[in-house]
Formats: sequence, C-alpha cells, structure tokens
Amino acid sequence: MLAVVKDKQAPGVTLKDVSQPRPARDEVLVKVKAASICGTDIGIYDWTPWAEGHITPPTIIGHEVVGEIIEVNSDEKHEFKKGDIVSSETHIFCNHCYQCRINNRHVCENMELFGIGRDGGFAEYATIPLRTTWKNDPSIPLKAMSAQEPLGNAVHVVTKANVPGKTVCVFGLGPTGLCAVAAAKAYGAKKVIGINRGEYRRDLGLNMGADEVYEKLPASLVGKCDAVLEMSGNADVLAQALEAVRIAGTMVFFGIPKKEANIDVGRYMINKELHIESVFGRRLWETWYQVSDLLATKKIDLAQIVTHEFPLSEFEEAMAVMKSGKSGKILLTP
Ligand SMILES: [Zn+2]
Ligand SMILES: [Zn+2]
Repeated sequence: MLAVVKDKQAPGVTLKDVSQPRPARDEVLVKVKAASICGTDIGIYDWTPWAEGHITPPTIIGHEVVGEIIEVNSDEKHEFKKGDIVSSETHIFCNHCYQCRINNRHVCENMELFGIGRDGGFAEYATIPLRTTWKNDPSIPLKAMSAQEPLGNAVHVVTKANVPGKTVCVFGLGPTGLCAVAAAKAYGAKKVIGINRGEYRRDLGLNMGADEVYEKLPASLVGKCDAVLEMSGNADVLAQALEAVRIAGTMVFFGIPKKEANIDVGRYMINKELHIESVFGRRLWETWYQVSDLLATKKIDLAQIVTHEFPLSEFEEAMAVMKSGKSGKILLTP
C-alpha cells in the first residue's frame, strides 16, 4: 500500500509502497477514508527538535484519520464491528499510570502518539488500538470526521477558558485556532477577536464567526480581553498575547513554540494575577462527545475550514500548500 513515511532523521518524507499492516491484539484495521494534515506534521516534515525527540524513523506519519473498520482483532467486549466509520484519538494511553487512574488519560505518563511514536494514517490502511478508536456519529459529514481531533483540541481550550459572555482573543488562526474561534462562538462568547499575520487565514477567521480580526494586537485591545487563547505556537507573539489579557483574566496556552520563549513573568503573570491554563490534547472521552455534538447539531461547520483536498500520492504538493499559510485544513484521500 502507499504510505507517507518519515524514513530518515532529516527534513522531508518519502512516499513508499509498504506492506499492509495487520491488527495486533486489541487493535482494529481500518481502510483510511481521509486524513488531515496537522501543524505537528509540518514539524515532523521539517524535523524540528520536538519531532526529533518524538519520532524514531521509519514511521508512517499522519494522526488525524477517519476510516472504515475492515477487521477487529480482540476477544474483549467492545462496541466495534466491520464497516463502522471510526476516527482515531492520537494520545494512546496506557490505562495503568497515575494520570490514567485519575481520569487524565490524555496526559498519560506512558503515552504513545499515533502517527508519531508509532505508525499512523497517511496510508491506505492503518491499525488503531481499540481503546483509542472513536465510533463516529453517521450524521457528521465524512470530511469533518478526520478533523474532530484538532477541533477537540480547540474545544478543550475553549472549555478551559470558560467563555460565555466574555471577550475572547484567539492568537493564531491556523486550523486549530480557526476551530477555537468557532467553538468560542458556539459556547457563547460575547465577542471573538482573531489575530493572525497572514490575510488568508484572517478571512477564514471571519468565515468561522470571528467578530474582528487583526494582523497584530491593536492598542485599543491591550488589557481588554477576558480570555486569551494562544494557538499560534509563535514564541515571538507570547508577550502580545499576555498584553491582550485583562487583569485577572484567563490565559490558555496551546500552540507549542519552536524555540524557548522569554516571558516577563512578574509583569505579565504575577502582577496581573492571571488564571493560567494549558491544553495538550482532548479529554477522553468528554471532549469527543462535545465535538460530536457540535458537529451533529451543526453548531460548527468544518466545511469552512477544510479548504483543500489532495490524493495521498500528492502529499508533497499538499504539504507545500499547508506551509504557505494559504490554507485551512487539508484533507488527503488515499
Ligand atoms: Zn493533530
Ligand atoms: Zn497512563
């Protein structure tokens, strides 16, 4: 089968013909219907320090996946059968560690990452552990199903920011930031402001319901935002984000900066007495239920965010568009 393989410790990937995987015990084999490119995949492609620390080539990449179950290999009691359309949760938890036991499985101490620490779904077939397989609500459009994982990140961020009635500022309007705009609106924010350097994604921000968008934080908004969602992962805008949040406001960090960030902790954090939160992944499975509900009730339409589709064989072209900043979510179809 065709697969996108990170096969060397250097920038780039290779499209390869590899053998079809077999499901191990308590795994499902899926025929991939669609997979979407994530910011993390850009990091893997470019071989950032984060990627270097998390991937041991060769690995089939791609973690935002929807597929049809071809085979279930398990004697355990489970809800899955052949033909089910399922998505994959990226954070493969161990179910035994302290975090798993206290219902924080998304930050498991022994976490394995689908499509990063083990083979993923930029391929014709993929295997997913049963415990991180999500059965989709069939009323949700197929195109939205693979993007539930990033929407889940955004929903988790927005729920931590407790947005109803608040002025919310979203820094970074990449696909997850765009999802955060939509989720903040859906959950009753009074006003949602988007900040993004590129115009293309500012326009997408307006499509997703942002009330105002700016290239950078205007002086009029300094200290005026009740909640600031840092989705850019740009170390150079963190200070701007911390300028935006009001005294005793809420700051949620999500984007992972490519380099160490210098922050004036006294000025921005202690003097302002902020509520500081961070998000790494989706709560299992609360966030997935919230996401499914937002999509099934059409409170969020991901069709606005999915701007491009490519066959898997044109992965390089898709990655080039993704890196240009002139796209929303990009779907790949094997
Ligand atoms: Zn992702
Ligand atoms: Zn664990």
